[in-house]
Amino acid sequence: MQFFRAKRTISPLAELYPLPIQFYDQPPCGDISLQEFESLAVERLKLLKSVENIGIGYIRGSEPYNKKLECELRKLKFPYRVFNEEKMDDYEMRRKDHISHFILRLAYCHSEDLRRWFIQQELDLFRFRFGELYDKQQDFLKNNSLEYHAIKEEEKERYLEKMKSSFGQNWKECQVFYKLTSRSLPFIQSDERLQPLLNHLSCAYVGQDYSVQKHVGKVSLDQLDGLATKSYPPCMRQLHKALRDHHHLRHGGRMQYGLYLKGIGITLDQALQFWKSEFIKGKVEPDKFDKSYAYNIRHSYGKEGKRTDYTPFSCMKIILSNAPSQGDYHGCPFRHCDPEILKSKLQSYKVPLAGITQIMDLVKGMHYQLACQKYFELTHNIDEVGFSLSHPNQYFIESQKLLSSSRDVKKESSQPESTQRSQGSHSQREVSSRAPKTTSKTESTDIEGINIEELLSEEYME
Ligand code: SF4
Repeated sequence: MQFFRAKRTISPLAELYPLPIQFYDQPPCGDISLQEFESLAVERLKLLKSVENIGIGYIRGSEPYNKKLECELRKLKFPYRVFNEEKMDDYEMRRKDHISHFILRLAYCHSEDLRRWFIQQELDLFRFRFGELYDKQQDFLKNNSLEYHAIKEEEKERYLEKMKSSFGQNWKECQVFYKLTSRSLPFIQSDERLQPLLNHLSCAYVGQDYSVQKHVGKVSLDQLDGLATKSYPPCMRQLHKALRDHHHLRHGGRMQYGLYLKGIGITLDQALQFWKSEFIKGKVEPDKFDKSYAYNIRHSYGKEGKRTDYTPFSCMKIILSNAPSQGDYHGCPFRHCDPEILKSKLQSYKVPLAGITQIMDLVKGMHYQLACQKYFELTHNIDEVGFSLSHPNQYFIESQKLLSSSRDVKKESSQPESTQRSQGSHSQREVSSRAPKTTSKTESTDIEGINIEELLSEEYME
């Protein structure tokens, strides 16, 4: 496919992309393969997710924030700076930036939630890159025919408070402010061949699909209650509790929880036994269970119908599709729960009050996965989660990994001093950075019987 590929030289691209930042006012034109289309989309999605994570973890505009973002842009090969000697690669990156922006714009224009998320991340990215232009800022404004005038001192005085509050901690007294005219977004036409891809993209999950099951059968049914309390993310904890309480879940809940259980290693036989025993308690006749419900369970394990081996749902899928209605327990509590109900749920999970406030702030800003990461930190008693959450099964694995490392620390510290010395301090140092702050609290989290080595085998790790 030929998107400038055959005769590409520096000059046309240099002309098209004179700077590493753009207003994206012209959609890209030319041909592009579906494969490249998809890979550019995934790369930008990764970038915007990093922008979101960094924006939560650091103060925007601060030195650590800028360093982290710069590092991420470099890693993902997106442009951010003007170099004295620009190479072909720099222009290629600008092209990638241009096209990938428009692809995600298409994918994220379908709902208010998606639009707001996308605009917020693009805005943060733009702000950072504009700052990195330094003396090229004026060139950028001129290239984009922006009518700008530095505002006069008296006008600045008049809007001082408003500007200070919108700048927050990034406010600098000696800044020059310009009045900018608003610009309209270009009309975007979508191609029906791309619709399935674009529809899927907004729920796209770019990590492991958790369908590889080397660990199948390593979790027994009588461990589930303990695991639900210690290692389930709130979405699955809520489903597990609802099933135990009401001995029934509606279709959305059965799908979400059933596939998650499959992902943590529950076998088909175990799943049939587990659901049947609960549903029978809920007055479903065994025959009816075998005829209606058992078929769906076998189906989700790829044993019926098209024999598709369904994968557990990612956070994006849970957050963005099939919102729960009255009587449903599926969905993401951070996205779908009423704030008051969410608060009392978190209280019942023994999350400290200050932590609940932090979580609710993230929820208010629509950072649902980050709210869940905060919940992980608080319930595992660690300072920093150390991973970017995108899947409930990832949550489970990370939790088990952490609990297992704290068990190792406990074992090592209970060994005689001489043995510890002979083994050196290496292993302890390795686990201590993410091990819970106090081991006494996590001693009770020991879940007997799970072979953690197998659970954490490479295939199962992200
Ligand atoms: S963020 Fe993901 S893992 Fe956490 S509760 Fe929501 S859907 Fe579940």
